[in-house]
Order: sequence, then structure tokens, then C-alpha cells
Amino acid sequence: MKNLKLTSISQVQKTAVKIGGVTMGQGFCAIAGPCSIESQSQMMETAEAVKKAGADMLRGGAFKPRSSPYSFQGLGLEGLKILARAGRETGLPVITEVIDPRDVSWVAEFADVLQIGTRNMQNFSLLKEVGKAGRPVLLKRGMYSTLEEWLNCAEYILSEGNPDVILCERGIRTFERYTRNTLDLSAVPAMRALTHLPIIVDPTHSTGRPELVAPMSLAALAAGADGIMVEVHRRPQEALCDADQALTPEQFAGIMAKIRPMQEFLAGISKEKNRKASSIG
Ligand code: PEP
Ligand code: MN
Repeated sequence: MKNLKLTSISQVQKTAVKIGGVTMGQGFCAIAGPCSIESQSQMMETAEAVKKAGADMLRGGAFKPRSSPYSFQGLGLEGLKILARAGRETGLPVITEVIDPRDVSWVAEFADVLQIGTRNMQNFSLLKEVGKAGRPVLLKRGMYSTLEEWLNCAEYILSEGNPDVILCERGIRTFERYTRNTLDLSAVPAMRALTHLPIIVDPTHSTGRPELVAPMSLAALAAGADGIMVEVHRRPQEALCDADQALTPEQFAGIMAKIRPMQEFLAGISKEKNRKASSIG
């Protein structure tokens, strides 16, 4: 791959991004929360439930990039205030999407991590702006983008002086219509070989089907991802955005109850492997 300077694996062994008490790139991090922030009670109830289930970070969109201009676009500033409060009260760092370069600096005052959505992956002026925002950035893969194009977008952020970029595989468009997108799980080990940046998986937007979120979350862990980001709503059928794909807090708790033991099991295997390797060496 040409022109990849700062994202290349030869630069650093592995980047760990510190976000409050959470370190992305060490262990397995679970981000959960609704697609969009709707009200203080919706956000607080969901935040408390996902925290109890073992989530490390809280998500929620205040600016929603919707396919139709007539769909709910998010609460904007009011939503960010709600999100920041839910984060403070639960002790969870918060992540939210920013869609306009003009909003980056003030959105950064409310968010611990800035999210760049799939539709904006190649919005270069937005990438340059978040590169200067002094906040970690979650860069989602463009739904029509190759790994090389994705890494080039990460380069835009890094080259502005922001080293804290986390990649997020969220599915790509294929001919398949049963799932909302096609989860390209092979992107996880492929990116591991190409870059030092952490990479997480979004099993919600990639499948669009709640029943596929649990198996794909476990598959993400097995593939070596640094975490997952899952949409959870206190009452999914009432969600103002992406109602068909959100999990209930109970369903999310069920996933976490499988993730944590599997994580320990995998950590045990790699410890054993290292022990054997050092005793041979
Ligand atoms: C989201 O995470 O809320 C979102 C809109 O995701 P994507 O950009 O992957 O569609
Ligand atoms: Mn969504």
C-alpha cells in the first residue's frame, strides 16, 4: 500500500488509546447505547442498564445522518448535554458522531470520543478538523471503501497531529440484502497486519438484525478485535432511529455474559503460548 506513513505497523507496535479509565487497544472494550439521544430518561435508563451489563463506554447520536431529510435528525446541543450528563452520572466515557466540520470544536467539549460515520469517512475537511480537536476519534469504514482508502482517511487525522484513532468495521455494501450490510470480519486481522491502530466491530449496523448481533460480537472477539459497538435501547420498538436493529438491555447483558468468559479464555491461551515460547527460548 502506497503513501501510508503514520498508520503503518512499522511505525509503532500497537497504539493504545486512553479514554478516561478505559484503554482501547488493550483487552476488549464494549461500547453500547442507543442510535440517537431522545430524552434524558431514555438516555439515563439505557446508560444505567448497559453499565450494569458491563459496558465500558456509552454511545448516542445527537446529529443523525439520515437517508431521508424528513426523518428524525437528532437533538443537537440538547442531546449532547443529555449524553454528557448520562456519562457523568454513570462514570462511562461518551462517544458521539460529528457530521459537520463547523461543529467539531464545540461537540468536542461534550464528548470523550468523536465518531466519524460511514457516510463521512472521506469527508476530508471533517477529518482534518477532528485531527485538530484534541479528542480520540472513532473512524468508521466507508460502506464502499477499501482498506487502503480507510487507512488513508486515518492518515488525514494522524497527520494533523492526533495520534488517537480507533478504526471501526461496520459492514460494506454488497449484493446481499438479507443483512443491512455485509460484515467484513476479515478486515480485523487484515488491519492488524497493516496498522498499529486499534480496531473494533459494529455488529449492529453491519447486520441490521438483532439476532445476529450476539454471534457477530463473539466472532469479532475471536477475530482479534479490540472491542464492539452495539446499539441498545430501553424499548427498541419505540426508537426514533434504527428501531429494527437495537437490542434490549437484557439482550445486551446476555452478550456480555458470553463475551467476558470467552475473553478470559482467549487471554489464558495467549498467556500459555507466551509461557511456552519463553521456556523454549
Ligand atoms: C451510528 O453508529 O449511529 C451510525 C450512523 O453508523 P454508520 O455511520 O456506521 O452507519
Ligand atoms: Mn444507528
